[in-house]
Amino acid sequence: MRLFSKAFFLTILIVSVVSAGSFGEAQGISTQEVSTTTAEIKSLLKTISTDSLKSYDNTLASFGTRHTMSDTLSSTRGIGAARRWIESKFQSFTKNDPNFKVYEDRFTLDKMPRISRPTTLVNVYGILWGKEGVSGRYVVISGHYDSRATDIMDDTSDAPGADDDGSGSSLAIEAARAFTTIHFQPDANIIFICFAGEEQGLYGSNHFASEARKKNMNIIADLNNDIVGAIKGGNGVVENNMVRVFSEGYKEITIGERKLNPEFIGYENDSPSRELARYIFTNAKQFLPTFKAQLIFRQDRFLRGGDHASFNKYGYAGVRFTEPNEDYNHQHQDVRVTTEMVDGKEVKVQYGDLPEFVDSSYVANVCRMNSLTAALLSVSPPAPTHAEMLVDKLEYGTRIKWDNPSHGKGIAGWKIYFRKTDEPFWSNYVFVNSSTDPVVEYNLKKLSKDDYIFGLAAVGTNGAESIPEAPLPGR
Ligand SMILES: [Zn+2]
Repeated sequence: MRLFSKAFFLTILIVSVVSAGSFGEAQGISTQEVSTTTAEIKSLLKTISTDSLKSYDNTLASFGTRHTMSDTLSSTRGIGAARRWIESKFQSFTKNDPNFKVYEDRFTLDKMPRISRPTTLVNVYGILWGKEGVSGRYVVISGHYDSRATDIMDDTSDAPGADDDGSGSSLAIEAARAFTTIHFQPDANIIFICFAGEEQGLYGSNHFASEARKKNMNIIADLNNDIVGAIKGGNGVVENNMVRVFSEGYKEITIGERKLNPEFIGYENDSPSRELARYIFTNAKQFLPTFKAQLIFRQDRFLRGGDHASFNKYGYAGVRFTEPNEDYNHQHQDVRVTTEMVDGKEVKVQYGDLPEFVDSSYVANVCRMNSLTAALLSVSPPAPTHAEMLVDKLEYGTRIKWDNPSHGKGIAGWKIYFRKTDEPFWSNYVFVNSSTDPVVEYNLKKLSKDDYIFGLAAVGTNGAESIPEAPLPGR
């Protein structure tokens, strides 16, 4: 039996946008705002279970090591046993929902840096197929299931990898369970993936993202989770009410044949990955008021990397979720207890990435933030294409124009977000009513493009919004 009505969700609130009139023309400004409040999303968030996450993480740690070159034949130890278990877990969710299918991305690496002999790597994933089908959009929720000990080439010692990255792998599995349990029916496809070979050099994600690029897959977001399990840092700080979200800046903007330095037009903070990060922040604020996305405007921590970088490399928006305070004694360390002098006292220090340091109720909140983002993106209308800010003459206002290939079908309208150049978040917007015109142009007469950054988002009739994107200067 279906738990929810087929028409996806939402309550549509009609409220006045009082401020809109002062920014633009009277015509074209809506007095309606569409707001998303949804029983189905609340149910999705509620379905995510601390107990499931704990049991997945314990199981992953129980394989002893998940080193990329560890045993593949044993049923209890090594990376082979781990990936077969992950696959069986995903497989069990196909019973929940026939639109969920399980896949392997299997490839062999020759001897290369951090790979001492030819080694087969397997990314394991499930796809919840949406109405758009294979040529449609994709949202990715990812973690990596390989682990490591102190020596990166040590493929036999225990490397439980409970936090790095049992936490992110458990999260991807649990998100798949939750989406299929409530029979969520997205428009875009949602991929839940556990990558291989991250520790040896992002090999699994690099293979997946490069293949996706070759196939021209329209991946609109990679939500990558790596070290999302502990609430207590090695610095003694305990925080459980937020997660860090890392995003890369703009490196280069291409307009037709022209390459443009983003800093030249003040767009360095408006890369697709950073707009995705803001999207995560804004929706978390609405749906998860006690759990915050702390945006970090850099691709990753110093000296570290992650699978989102593979997506970035191939031109896809991608961010990394990581716990607020890390404990380096618990990462990339052999499991051992040593006696050390701390503040003049002898103490026993436990090293190693053990399940006892993972707080599954914290992972559950990170899983909720991922699932919320993926759910909203997967039912949002496609982002407007060819969004341009016209710079063909000196003028006081800002004209923005974009294509409307669906002629307004399924679209309530568009939001033009804006903020001052020194603000981190969108601080206001105007709502532009849906139109049947093939190209829409809107003039924000009182706002100078010299002083603001703009972001254009499509708003569906269901209330869900696309990720805003900064319109490129055009003539
Ligand atoms: Zn990791």
